[in-house]
Amino acid sequence: MAKNDLKEIVNMIDPNHNIFHQAVKDVSESIEKIYDAEPIYKKCRVFDRLFHHDRIIKFRVTWEDDNSDVHHNFGWRVQHNNALGAYKGGLRFHPNVNEDTFKFLSFEQTFKNTLTGLPMGGAKGGSDFNPKGKSDREIMRFCQAFMRELAPFIGPETDVPAGDIGVGAREIGYLYGTYKAITEKHNGVLTGKAPLYGGSLIRTEATGYGAAYFLSHVLNNDDKDIKNLRVAISGAGNVSLHLAEKIIDMNGTVVSLSDSNGTLMSKDGFTIDDLKAIKSLKLDHRDRLKNYKKYDINGDYHDDKEPWSLCDYDIAAPSATQNEIDDKDTKGIIKSGASYVLEAANMPLTHKATLTCIEKGLIILPAKAVNAGGVAVSGIERTQNALMEQWSAEKVDTKLQNIMKDIYQSCVLHAPNCDGADKYIHGANIAGFRKVANAIIAQGGLN
Ligand code: NDP
Repeated sequence: MAKNDLKEIVNMIDPNHNIFHQAVKDVSESIEKIYDAEPIYKKCRVFDRLFHHDRIIKFRVTWEDDNSDVHHNFGWRVQHNNALGAYKGGLRFHPNVNEDTFKFLSFEQTFKNTLTGLPMGGAKGGSDFNPKGKSDREIMRFCQAFMRELAPFIGPETDVPAGDIGVGAREIGYLYGTYKAITEKHNGVLTGKAPLYGGSLIRTEATGYGAAYFLSHVLNNDDKDIKNLRVAISGAGNVSLHLAEKIIDMNGTVVSLSDSNGTLMSKDGFTIDDLKAIKSLKLDHRDRLKNYKKYDINGDYHDDKEPWSLCDYDIAAPSATQNEIDDKDTKGIIKSGASYVLEAANMPLTHKATLTCIEKGLIILPAKAVNAGGVAVSGIERTQNALMEQWSAEKVDTKLQNIMKDIYQSCVLHAPNCDGADKYIHGANIAGFRKVANAIIAQGGLN
């Protein structure tokens, strides 16, 4: 009966919200394992309440381009749950986003934030604005217009946004400056700020570094060493580049990076000098990987190709966007000889691709745990802002390493009877769910 209830709850989700439905289904398949044994959750209807967001805010953003032509886009802030603390989660600027995207991302964010052990609720937001090809002044005017609409709904004790796809340190600077101008308050309302005006050292690196730290615990448990392993990474943004940097730093071999136009491969592995040049290409020059020769980078470029079937590797690390790996891509991953999928992007596998990988014995390291390092250091940035302090890179990195170790241990602890390739998925989902559900019940649970 209880199992059917769960399925019925999942099926109540608006069928137009496919990605959100996929995220809920993924969590529900883990929660099934504890639902009957812990009837309080059912009695308090915690599970179905978590499938409904606290608040969905949608607004119009009107801005002017360099030719004085007027444009408008949509903006969203989706506040999912604040049982454990003020809402927290990034902003994404990408033309493909819609309400479904932010419902999925904010739902995932609540569970992820819970795993960090820091007092943070979950939210996500952004806009269907396309930053590609826009001048710096256009980006600034868009960010100013976006923040004019968003400012009434956020605050250091209510909702603290950060960056995500299309929103890096430059955009956070413009957004923060506008918030400060509107409110006259320098209160750390955004994280991912530059260290110059209140940002935390290591925040930029944290998601990628954290993913590598999580991986090292898993490998250690399996008596393996990253030194002997090859990692195929997709994406060439904040997460991918810092994951690659840490893997190379740990003497692992990174065989690929990609962007939305194609893949740059290095069968023998990128060197740290290659990576520096790739960072300069992507982050300083906002260029495309296909122009790699201009930057003296060693490799082979494959136009319009993803990394998964281009060479052999041990770890597939999708680090670009949701559902980037579908069932057809899994064939390449399986053929490559990989044993692990390190989900550095949010929900990078379709549901079918996840099931195929598990069936073939590929161990899935789930995004909620793997990429939680970014929000963990965002939480650490808030602490520094509240204390009016700036901690050293070493201190923040040590805290990040400890948090990733705790997350790994939580995943193991909360999936005691699971030993399949999906054990970390269940561990992360159950650990996250238990904490947020117990907080909802403890607070009387009527919100
Ligand atoms: P960035 O915008 O810095 O980089 C994204 C990279 O992925 C770019 O190389 C981009 O290519 C590529 N990409 C984006 N969308 C697509 C697409 N539809 N098809 C192919 N390639 C695509 O984003 P981040 O690195 O910050 O984020 C990557 C993932 O990690 C996302 O899932 C995000 O939600 C997640 N994440 C990020 C965190 C952070 O701290 N930044 C924290 C936790 C999760 P191109 O260069 O061509 O645009």
